[in-house]
Amino acid sequence: MDNYIEVVKNKLKEEGFKLTPQRRSIVDIMLKSKGQHLNSEEIYDLVKKQCPEIGLATVYRTLQLLDDIGAVSKLNLDDGCCRYELNINNESHNHHHLICKKCNKIIEVEEDLLDTLEEQIEKNYGFKIFDHDVKFFGLCSDCK
Ligand SMILES: [Zn+2]
Ligand SMILES: [Zn+2]
Ligand SMILES: [Zn+2]
Repeated sequence: MDNYIEVVKNKLKEEGFKLTPQRRSIVDIMLKSKGQHLNSEEIYDLVKKQCPEIGLATVYRTLQLLDDIGAVSKLNLDDGCCRYELNINNESHNHHHLICKKCNKIIEVEEDLLDTLEEQIEKNYGFKIFDHDVKFFGLCSDCK
């Protein structure tokens, strides 16, 4: 995972930005909370423990910057807030999300499973697919 920090550092440098200690703390939080899909406020609360002087606006701006350089992905899970997750492998398609309507748990589906659909779309519409954003709404195994 040290590697990820180096990648972020280099991407920032390419765009003329530095990995400041505050940005570094946000990247650290994203790494530590992998798979949790934290929203901006939750990330802010965690970062504040490391950088008490950091402001919410800085956290928003940094997350936006990390999203712009492709280091994190912004998720819209239809729950009224912006959630973020690591984007370690730029080349691969995003995993799918299962969202429990009762307890709001977010479960990741690692398998893409859309190869056939993607192939059909590319063939029938002459459309080159880069990625997709798939959400399933329902009840998790605990709530069912
Ligand atoms: Zn795919
Ligand atoms: Zn549930
Ligand atoms: Zn996810």
